[in-house]
Amino acid sequence: MSEIREYFELPDGFLEATPETLHQCVPGPALIHLAGQREPAVAVVLLLHGNEPVGLQAVQTLLRHYTGRPLPRALTLVIGNPQAAALNQRHLDDQPDFNRIWPGTEQGGSQEAETFAELCRRLEARGLFAAIDLHNNTGRNPHYACINRLDTPFLNLAALFGRTVVYFTRPCGVASMALARIAPAVTLECGHPGDTAGVDHAREMIDAVLHLDHFSDKPPRSGAIEIFHTVAQVRVRPGLQAGLDAHNDVRLEPDLDRLNFQLLAAGSQLVRVRADAEDPLIAIAEDGSEVTREYLERFGQEIRLRRPAMPSMLTLDSRVIAQDCLCYLMEPLNL
Ligand SMILES: [Zn+2]
Repeated sequence: MSEIREYFELPDGFLEATPETLHQCVPGPALIHLAGQREPAVAVVLLLHGNEPVGLQAVQTLLRHYTGRPLPRALTLVIGNPQAAALNQRHLDDQPDFNRIWPGTEQGGSQEAETFAELCRRLEARGLFAAIDLHNNTGRNPHYACINRLDTPFLNLAALFGRTVVYFTRPCGVASMALARIAPAVTLECGHPGDTAGVDHAREMIDAVLHLDHFSDKPPRSGAIEIFHTVAQVRVRPGLQAGLDAHNDVRLEPDLDRLNFQLLAAGSQLVRVRADAEDPLIAIAEDGSEVTREYLERFGQEIRLRRPAMPSMLTLDSRVIAQDCLCYLMEPLNL
């Protein structure tokens, strides 16, 4: 049984809604189709993570800007998790992560996974010009675009957002990976929740894509973008605690997130760990295999990088670390 609502105009109250109140006009996962001067539509995915308001805010600003004027291209809003947004949570405790259960997921079988499979079928039937999934993150990170394919249109779409592009094929089940089967798709990481520069940047990106006639088949000029390939996700072993205080199994330095998007030499310290904590960090490669010993080594109470790598998404937020991961490790990619 599908739980998707489909609208063909903006529901009343959408433009005034906050992430906390959006559920009053759009109670769950939904598609909102808005007409424009060209077809097919650009899909903009928002609030897949309920505590990441940038997508809702960018779309509201954009639509106010077009009040009384036609959109340059049709726009389909994909509404993720208003229930979690009402409580400012990534997802509710009894829900899966809504950006891990799209087609291709390894966490299938849930009712939510079926909802997003049905949502993809409806988008595929209508066709898309491009898909943009909007996120905030914690920790110090630049704004950056993520792609899951290296085809030229994907590179050109990502280049519209900025220089920094991350290519990853894990975790599976993310929106941009599922939507890549329909059109060039990108995940945009737009800085901290509430960062107005991130909202402006996202709105400018959506507007730019709405104005495009087609994607160039020429790749971005040399040096226009820097692509980093995610080689591992670093998780804290389940059951162990990570945090700033000394009693934690994994101890985080208060400025740990300054290392994000810095290329670190082999031997650089990532975290300190309690002496009796056994294998406290686990590194998982893109193919799902464990690669802890390839990327990390223990030196007394330190966990160090075994080879040069660039972390991203390092965060000091214990809840994010427990629900998702400590960080990703990346390497520069030369096409
Ligand atoms: Zn997110």
